[in-house]
Amino acid sequence: MPEVTSQTRVFALVGDPVFHSLSPTIQNAAMADLELDGVYVALRAGAEEMVGFMKGLARSGGGGNITLPHKEKAATVLDVSSPAVKRTGACNTFWLRDGKVHGDNTDVEGFSRALEGFLGEPPEGLKVLVLGAGGAARAGLVALMDGGAEEVRLLNRTQDRARVVARRIGGARVRVVDNIRELDGKAFDLVVNTTCLGLQPDDPLPLDLERLKQVGGVMDLVCRRGASPLVEAARELGIRATDGSEMLIQQGAAAFECWWERKPSLRVMRAALERGQRR
Ligand code: NAP
Repeated sequence: MPEVTSQTRVFALVGDPVFHSLSPTIQNAAMADLELDGVYVALRAGAEEMVGFMKGLARSGGGGNITLPHKEKAATVLDVSSPAVKRTGACNTFWLRDGKVHGDNTDVEGFSRALEGFLGEPPEGLKVLVLGAGGAARAGLVALMDGGAEEVRLLNRTQDRARVVARRIGGARVRVVDNIRELDGKAFDLVVNTTCLGLQPDDPLPLDLERLKQVGGVMDLVCRRGASPLVEAARELGIRATDGSEMLIQQGAAAFECWWERKPSLRVMRAALERGQRR
């Protein structure tokens, strides 16, 4: 990393918890690679501090990312919201331009690029089961709708939350699963896990895949050292599966472009993530 000086732009991941995050490792590696004068840190913040951190970091010429549980609140702090923020009601990236705090939700682009890399093509015409209805589900749904998915079923522990998300984003192509038994014997081209289940070692699986008649592929947004439990379970059943690592890289690369108006090296970012996951 270049020397930190009074000119250095400061970026931060703001949320709670943040200390497990590999975003600082990835972003600092990408900035060092291009010899940019910036530093990226993680700041644990409750809802009250988050607003001050966001405005302060942006106005000082830096910016950052927002993670759970603050992405929805962050969307209300912005002077200028990207289309992805307006559609999802969530913001994960912020910065200053022309004296105004701008925000984007690069989880949409990150999900879309990672999914297309996994499938080898856009999700056009696919039948998809999405598990979860939080911020990541909103981003995934926008990407699936824009990518031309034919039908999305949304399963969430809290059904009302799923209904709100389906109404906001889905339209006729998204339907909420009222009872898990509705899924028995159904076939899906793709199952996407956007719940937090799998982050902690003793979490249950978000879904028993054997309930379903057939699954074409599994994308788990959980990102941790080694394969996630859902990815392992899928592979044991002979189903192609990927975890959230590539989405983490792609949403981070899209954020980097918002801050620096330059493309980072994905190769450098992936290598940094691998190093961080080995530690
Ligand atoms: P969030 O808004 O807090 O949503 C959490 C989701 O998980 C909700 O659907 C929640 O259901 C569900 N959930 C939590 N605990 C559960 C439990 N014990 N049983 C069943 N469901 C449970 O969080 P988020 O921002 O969407 O993030 C969700 C996950 O996506 C996290 O693992 C995060 O790390 C991951 N993510 C990854 C990337 C990436 O780049 N790879 C980017 C964004 C997010 P309820 O509505 O019922 O509470």
